[in-house]
Amino acid sequence: MKYLPFLFLFFAACLPSNNNTPRVVYEFPEQTVISNIDKDACLQKTSSKFIAKGSQLDESLLDSFSDEIPINKEKEKGRDFFDEIKKEFTLINDQRSQTLERIVERMRPYTKRKQLQYRIFLIENDKIANAWTHAGGYIYMTTRLMDFVESEDELAVIIGHEIGHNENKHVAKHLQRANIVKGIGDFFGLEVEDETSESIGAIFSMILTPYNQPQEHESDRAGLYLAYKAGYDPEKGLDFFDRINRHQSEGWLNDFLTSHPHPEERISCMKGYLDSSRK
Ligand SMILES: [Zn+2]
Repeated sequence: MKYLPFLFLFFAACLPSNNNTPRVVYEFPEQTVISNIDKDACLQKTSSKFIAKGSQLDESLLDSFSDEIPINKEKEKGRDFFDEIKKEFTLINDQRSQTLERIVERMRPYTKRKQLQYRIFLIENDKIANAWTHAGGYIYMTTRLMDFVESEDELAVIIGHEIGHNENKHVAKHLQRANIVKGIGDFFGLEVEDETSESIGAIFSMILTPYNQPQEHESDRAGLYLAYKAGYDPEKGLDFFDRINRHQSEGWLNDFLTSHPHPEERISCMKGYLDSSRK
């Protein structure tokens, strides 16, 4: 009997690191880089009023006006932005930030852009719930959002979505657009604020500049794939959007809702994608 506690410890050590192993098996048509979102039926639905101001500049037009941003420039912009974030906000290092880092680590093997070092930071802000990403693979989440989340499955879908924006070069396209605007400004001799300038206003305008509707849905799909591959249950992760939907009149969600498509639309698109990918 005296060996019983050791026996218990041995079996406890053999337990899987989480209880979220999905029982449903999915075979997603695409991984993190999504190429056929335009054909998806969910884009034919009423366009979300929340991202109506997302960029309308067509990507082919974008490429003809400005060169694609090189990877080292993406990383440099991400670092500059991170320096600004560190100056303005308190970054939290506790059990919650470690959970976020662990989820990113579990997703890393399934990302395609290996030159980017994906990492996540928890920002102390109990008034605004939001998560966003910037160039170079930097992801940020506020404590208000972290504390609203109820499971790691939900966190995985949120983080996977943010990684999806970098995997699909949406952030790089933002930078490309900023270059065009700056180029036009320079041509006419106007002062156009660089997005990594010292101004905190510039930081928030970057955070709150919405992606367009196809980009948001691409990132949602990438997020479901990453959550599943990292060992989480993507369907359970969607509970987060149900709760967001119920709380959407509350002020602390304003930033989240103005920078993402309507939660009901996202739930329906993501459920459709999971249903069609279930084996
Ligand atoms: Zn997004």
